[in-house]
Amino acid sequence: MDNSHSAEEIEHEATNKPLMSVTTFDSHKITNSTVHQVEPGPPHEALFLVLAYLPLFELVAMSEVCKSLKDEVDKDVLPWLNIIAQRPLNLRLSDDILMKMTSKANGRLRSLVLIDCTRITNAGLHRVLQKNLLLTKLYVPGCTSLTLDGVIEAVKSLCQNHHSLKSLMLDGIYNITEEHLSTFSSYLQMNRTQQEQHQQQQPILYHNYTNLPTHYHEESNRAIDVEVCPKCSQVRMVFDCPRETCKGKRSQADCRGCSFCIPRCEECGVCVGSEEMEETVCKDIVCSCCWLQLRKCEFCNKPYCRRHAHQHSSSSSSTGFVCDVCLSKFIINPYDDDDDEEE
Ligand SMILES: [Zn+2]
Ligand SMILES: [Zn+2]
Ligand SMILES: [Zn+2]
Ligand SMILES: [Zn+2]
Ligand SMILES: [Zn+2]
Repeated sequence: MDNSHSAEEIEHEATNKPLMSVTTFDSHKITNSTVHQVEPGPPHEALFLVLAYLPLFELVAMSEVCKSLKDEVDKDVLPWLNIIAQRPLNLRLSDDILMKMTSKANGRLRSLVLIDCTRITNAGLHRVLQKNLLLTKLYVPGCTSLTLDGVIEAVKSLCQNHHSLKSLMLDGIYNITEEHLSTFSSYLQMNRTQQEQHQQQQPILYHNYTNLPTHYHEESNRAIDVEVCPKCSQVRMVFDCPRETCKGKRSQADCRGCSFCIPRCEECGVCVGSEEMEETVCKDIVCSCCWLQLRKCEFCNKPYCRRHAHQHSSSSSSTGFVCDVCLSKFIINPYDDDDDEEE
């Protein structure tokens, strides 16, 4: 869990100084002296209004703070109508936990967003959907335990009989063919208004998408995230290119394609040819321009991309740092013999 606040920490703070712990969510900001000056009491009423806006992880943590917050979280339907499960909850989310969470919406679940929730199975998804047929968004990218048949079944049940599914994310579900894709499209078209059907699709840029996939899927006005890659004909996420010289010919651009066919800069999303491909510590690709601007490791002169920048553990000066690879190679285990060769 990469969140630094355990439920116990939050609980500890809340019983001592309820409002402050929630507004800052930072255990280090509350010193012992301030904590003990305040008498324990019920949470401030304003807190209850916040619940509907909290991400799932915070909502669950909040329900463990104290009894009155737990009761409020349990009885209020509003925070549970749009469930978004992603890191750090994704790996813990089982079918049973999902069922329990979604049941709090009393059958009124509007969107179910499961990002990389690899433990969710067809059976688990179906159990939830049977009770929540009014779903408008079903996003399951990277939910690799779901099979294509399972997803088809799910989409069918959410689209037929005037049900209301309009938007679908499937990236990472195996074996989708062009034929499946048109089946999905025809189901979803039934529920999309004329206006929605004719809205112009916005291009999807790689660097935007990898940072905020659901946001950019919605911005793009697409019913389904994946499409047929013009390069390899596989059904995958297909990215447009923001490079000025490629932009003019957008849809026919040579560099429009999935990330297997067209290497792209992690930072700015442009297509990157082998001559300007630079490597990062995290093994992502960046273009020369972005590479020049990123801070480099003092030992190997490689940067982290911005998405993985938080990973470096040692910062030795205001301008430089030592990456994790060099840290373990040269500082922690300098005499280790079984170092692997240069890749
Ligand atoms: Zn491709
Ligand atoms: Zn770049
Ligand atoms: Zn390009
Ligand atoms: Zn390094
Ligand atoms: Zn990276």
